Amino acid sequence: MGRVLIVDDNEDNLMLFQEYLEDNGFETALASSGQQALSYLEEHDVDVIVLDVQMPGMDGFEVCRKVKAQENTRDIPVIFVTAKFQDVDHVATGLYLGANDYLYKPVAEKELVARVSVMVRLKAAEDEVKRISVTDDLTGLFNRRFLRKRLDEELSRARRAGFPLSLLMMDLDRFKIINDALGHPAGDEVLKAIAGVLQSGFRQGDVVGRWGGEEFMALLPNSDAAGAQISAERLRKAVEELDLSAIAPNLQVTASFGIAVFQSSNPETDASDLISWADGALYAAKEAGRNTVRAHSYIKP
Ligand SMILES: [Mg+2]
Repeated sequence: MGRVLIVDDNEDNLMLFQEYLEDNGFETALASSGQQALSYLEEHDVDVIVLDVQMPGMDGFEVCRKVKAQENTRDIPVIFVTAKFQDVDHVATGLYLGANDYLYKPVAEKELVARVSVMVRLKAAEDEVKRISVTDDLTGLFNRRFLRKRLDEELSRARRAGFPLSLLMMDLDRFKIINDALGHPAGDEVLKAIAGVLQSGFRQGDVVGRWGGEEFMALLPNSDAAGAQISAERLRKAVEELDLSAIAPNLQVTASFGIAVFQSSNPETDASDLISWADGALYAAKEAGRNTVRAHSYIKP
């Protein structure tokens, strides 16, 4: 049904809203101040916030402003609850702050439940759109658009922190032959099986996705060339040993890998440098006979 955070300085209101919502199948969490609500949101996911406007200390407007300013809470719908009946300026202020809806005290059970339900549905639909926009349809891995965006983000993070960032490109060897011999549906099954290998083959914090066709990319934050080499070599073996007999008897695939590394000693390195260096290294791996790993090497001026 959905998880609702109820924020109100009045204990009776908290209890009443909790009862209304739980009687109608929602899960609830309670906060009796803005500060409490914000700390709760640091640790927990919720689908909707029902937020009292008039609270001592941090009022509902301030809570809303903070919720909407944080990347991880920005998309949680906020329903304001106010005692100021039909105060147009008041309502407008809240909506401009990013609130999605308004309720006036005293709040009727039916109306609370109906408005919360609408917001839960809205949140679920938005989450789904967001998920689809970053996901590769076939494999369920991140898609190219997401990888490109994350590469920029990870690169600025690495630049700020003075950490290395490795970019790993992987391309299945002679994949066209599989498609031609077994047909595209079998080729798709192979790509899905490879995605499974990739999903379990990385550290937490690494980002892996499908770059296009039979090409995959991984971003390894705080990993230098030696670390990336180890990851790539482990994947190369895992791909080579992958059992694909469910797709076709004796089917085996291999992959080639290219590595490029951002080093803080070369802060001017940008995303397109990394991509083209990794592409170049991948090309060298293909030239070297495939099923192997190559890293772009730097010629320092
Ligand atoms: Mg109040």
